[in-house]
Amino acid sequence: MLKITIPSNLNSPRQYILNVLLTEFLGIPFTTEIKNVNTIQISYENKTLTIADTFFQQAANHWLQPESLPPLPLAQWNVSEDIADVNLVENSIPVIFGDEVYLISHDNGLHLGLDIFGSAFFMLSRYEEAVKSERDIHDRFPASASLAYQAGFLHRPIVNEYLEILWVCMKQLWPSLKRKPREFQMKVSCDVDHPYQCGIKNPLRQVKHIAGDLIIRKSPKRAIKSVINYFASKRGNYSYDPYYTRFEWMMDVNEKAGNKVAFYFIAGHSEPAMDGCYSLDEPVIRKLMRRIHDRGHEIGLHASYNTYNDKDQLCREADNLRRIMKEEGIQQEILGGRQHYLRWETPTTFRNWDVAGLDYDTTLSFADHAGFRCGTCYEYPVYDVVNQQPLKLRERPLIAMEGSVIYKCYMGLGTGEKAFEAFQQMKAYCQQFNGNFTLLWHNDCLIDQAVQKLYEALINRL
Ligand SMILES: [Zn+2]
Repeated sequence: MLKITIPSNLNSPRQYILNVLLTEFLGIPFTTEIKNVNTIQISYENKTLTIADTFFQQAANHWLQPESLPPLPLAQWNVSEDIADVNLVENSIPVIFGDEVYLISHDNGLHLGLDIFGSAFFMLSRYEEAVKSERDIHDRFPASASLAYQAGFLHRPIVNEYLEILWVCMKQLWPSLKRKPREFQMKVSCDVDHPYQCGIKNPLRQVKHIAGDLIIRKSPKRAIKSVINYFASKRGNYSYDPYYTRFEWMMDVNEKAGNKVAFYFIAGHSEPAMDGCYSLDEPVIRKLMRRIHDRGHEIGLHASYNTYNDKDQLCREADNLRRIMKEEGIQQEILGGRQHYLRWETPTTFRNWDVAGLDYDTTLSFADHAGFRCGTCYEYPVYDVVNQQPLKLRERPLIAMEGSVIYKCYMGLGTGEKAFEAFQQMKAYCQQFNGNFTLLWHNDCLIDQAVQKLYEALINRL
C-alpha cells in the first residue's frame, strides 16, 4: 500500500483532497503519516514521489484571506516537454499553485513542482468563492470573477488534467499500479420552472403570452394554440401546452439515445415572483411525476430562489418533495437536484443540502459562462471551507446550462453551429476523461425547431 507523508498543519483539508483524488478518482488505497516535511511524499517499494505543497503552506496562516489566492498571470508548464504521453486537453497547462521547476528525476524517484493536491482542493471546494466578494444581480459569483475565467482555463477540466499528470508519474515509478475504471456518462437534466404556460391560471398573463406569440415570436399558429390551451387545460387537457408536451418528447429522444433524464421540481416558494406558478399538490404535476418515474427517469428537487442561504426553507422543500413522492409511490435510491437560477453561496449552500439529507447537488456551473467551474467532470464529495470539514453531500458539477450558451446576455452563441460546437467541445472533454457531461435543458426552452435539433444532436452519446 502507498504511504503518503504530509505536513502537520491543515490536516482535515489535506486528508480530504487525498481521499478525493486517490480513493474516489483513482481507486488506490493508501495510509497517511504526519511528519515535519515541506512536500507531499508518496512512498512505495523504496521509491518516492514528492509533490510541491504550495497552497496549504500559503493558506495555513491566511485561510480564506486574499493572500492565499494565486496571483495572476499564472505560470504555464509545457508538459509535453517533460512527459511524453499524458492525457491533456492542451500540451501546456496553467499552474494554479506550484514551484518553478515542474519535474525532476532523482535516484529513488521523482519530484513534481505542480501542487496537484492544493490546486485540486482550491478548485473542488470553490475556495475562492468564499474569499472574493463579487456578485451579480442574483447574488451569484460570476464567471468573470473566477480564476478559471481570468486565467483562461474555464473550458478545461483542469483537475482531471492534473490527475492525469499525477497518474503518469505514479505509473512511471510503480508500473504495477492499477486505477479504477470509469465510463463516460451523459447526465441530462431538466429544471421544471414552467411545467405549463402560467397564463392558463391567469387570463391577463395568457393574453400577454398570446401577444408575444404574435409580435415577438411572429407565430399566429402558436397564438392559436395558446388560446386553445387556455380552454383545454381547464378540462385537464394539456396536449396543446407547448411546455407540458415537451416532457414526453424529452423522454422519447433521451430513451432513444439510452439516457435517463433527471427532472427537478420546485417544491416551495420563497420568492413568489421567481419561483414558477405551480404546486406539487396539483393533480397534473403529480401525474407528470408518476409518468416520469414509470418511464424510468429521475425526480429531484429544484430548490426555490432564496433557499441557497436559507437552510430551513430548503429542508421544508426537500421534505415536501419526499412527501409527494411517497404519496405517489415513487421510490428512488437517491435524491438530488439543483438550485433555481443556479444561485449559490460557498460553503452555505453545500451545508444546506447536506443538512437537508440530499444525496447530490448539480448546480455548479456559472450561469454567465458554461464550462468547468469546479475544474472537473467527475462527481465528488464536497468540503466546507469555513468549518473545515468534509460533508456527505456529493457535487455533480453542471457543465452547461442551455441558456448560458444560447442567450445574448450570457455567451450569446444562439442555436446554430457555433452553439453546437461549444457544447460539443465540452462534451468531448468529458469523454476524454471518462467523466460526466452534465447538461441542463429546460422544457420551456425546446419550442423552436432549431433548438430541438440542437438538443437532439447533443444528447446522443457519440
Ligand atoms: Zn430554475
